[in-house]
Amino acid sequence: MPKQIVLLGPPGAGKGTQAKILSKKLGIPHVSSGDIFRENLREKTPLGILAEGYINCGELVPDDVTVSMIQERLSRPDCEAGVLLDGFPRTAPQADALDRMLRKKNKGQVNAAPCIVVPNDVLIERLTGRRSCQNGHVFHIVFNPPKVEGICDVDGSELYQREDDTVETVSRRIRVYLEQTSPLIDYYRQQDVLIEIDGNQPIDMVAEAVYAAIAEL
Ligand code: ADP
Ligand code: ADP
Repeated sequence: MPKQIVLLGPPGAGKGTQAKILSKKLGIPHVSSGDIFRENLREKTPLGILAEGYINCGELVPDDVTVSMIQERLSRPDCEAGVLLDGFPRTAPQADALDRMLRKKNKGQVNAAPCIVVPNDVLIERLTGRRSCQNGHVFHIVFNPPKVEGICDVDGSELYQREDDTVETVSRRIRVYLEQTSPLIDYYRQQDVLIEIDGNQPIDMVAEAVYAAIAEL
């Protein structure tokens, strides 16, 4: 089974939701660049303070900052057996940097890149109805509601709406994705590891499709 996995797809496609399911199934850690930035933001670390302005206006955090953050995360022992990356890489220089990191660790290269495909109008509905807890668990007020309104099913913490999940910022994030991240689809296609997944179906069906496609690679 491939174990160096990059999950691709626009904001709201369901990467985080699928990564949680898949990382359990494959026994590899889920590394979400967005979650790491938000954790730093909450703890007011220098990294969090630097990233905040970019995140809240829907722009990308500069590559050098993002790459060193991921490099540190990938150097921890739990990533030895493999990793499921969600939200990284998001630019061509980040994808190059990831290739270099894996080569340096003798991990070969990215060996599966599922891309979750969802139409833009659905993305906007998903993102504006998303509710998150501070530990990275994600719900949707209509499509995936928590058992108790406003409370995380997993850890009982309070759910909140991300500041960047407003209509204006969501449109900017989708634009940034099209301009800077979508070229990575071809990059991984050329390496024969791209798998396109229809993300416009129920969560468990997307999960089955992603798992089956990875197993087939
Ligand atoms: P991403 O990490 O790609 O931004 P998320 O996993 O956070 O996406 O999902 C975005 C929103 O859409 C969340 O509110 C989530 O509950 C909801 N969602 C995820 N997958 C599906 C799906 N297959 N059908 C309906 N809603 C979904
Ligand atoms: P989404 O739900 O859109 O997939 P994420 O939680 O992955 O959102 O990312 C939220 C924000 O964090 C991004 O809009 C961006 O500002 C920043 N970010 C996350 N990952 C990266 C990255 N790889 N490169 C640059 N910025 C990033």
